[in-house]
Amino acid sequence: MNEIEGKAVVITGASRGIGAAAAREFANNGAKTVLCARSSGDIDALAAEIRANGGKAKAVPCDVSSYADVARAVEECRAAYGRIDVLVNNAGVIEPIGLLAKSDPEAWGRATDINFKGTYHGIRAALPPMQAQGTGVIVNISSGAATSPLEGWSHYCASKAAAAMLTRCADREATGSVRVVGLSPGTVATEMQVMIKASGINPVSRLDPSAHIPPDWAAKAIVWLCTADAAEFAGTDVSLRQEEIRRRVGLI
Ligand code: NAP
Repeated sequence: MNEIEGKAVVITGASRGIGAAAAREFANNGAKTVLCARSSGDIDALAAEIRANGGKAKAVPCDVSSYADVARAVEECRAAYGRIDVLVNNAGVIEPIGLLAKSDPEAWGRATDINFKGTYHGIRAALPPMQAQGTGVIVNISSGAATSPLEGWSHYCASKAAAAMLTRCADREATGSVRVVGLSPGTVATEMQVMIKASGINPVSRLDPSAHIPPDWAAKAIVWLCTADAAEFAGTDVSLRQEEIRRRVGLI
């Protein structure tokens, strides 16, 4: 039996991109999934696809900038599956791309409410039941932008940097066998990269799409981070650009 089989997993931002790929990867490994995003039609369709393939999935519409929404998603996982073993804090936005001096304060704040506070909301909701169980893994999807400043992305870089510090703080506070880890996937071929390319604002927007890894590489890395083999990385941001990590994940 693989380590992921039977685990109860909540994934935010599961309507497309990395989150949808992660949902499929967990389900393929026998996990019981809860899919969260604002686009309820898309998570309903993905949950139906997973169930049609013999997996377990439940769609819970959720805006991660609302703590009540995130807490409800965790509760629905516990109600459906009796526990929560994994939370993937994946929901994130790159919009509004633009220079800080011209930024709209409301829109800038909305992005940080999703990327940063959304991550906090997930940790806040999932840590207590995980600590009561004595086990659990929280994976926060980070970015190279957490450590590298980029023009036009002040909201994104700042919120990912803040979320990366949350990973470190939360892991330090986690008790028992609960751990919190970040994954910096490198550039991934998703809608987010399509928006980045259209902006033309910084070097990332000028990358050739062939430079991006497929979403299922990131998904496999997320699942691997939830296994005992990755326990040594607790409290850090793991970079999927590193050859050693790609090898450990089984990608090369
Ligand atoms: P994507 O294709 O744009 O997907 C983003 C996901 O986040 C969607 O499922 C979206 O669903 C969800 N989301 C956005 N705002 C939300 C909210 N308020 N509440 C709940 N869900 C929300 O992007 P992606 O590339 O898969 O990105 C996933 C994560 O990877 C993000 O955290 C991103 O920062 C990170 N990342 C991506 C790359 C890359 O190159 N693609 C690189 C490094 C890190 P709804 O719109 O339906 O809510």
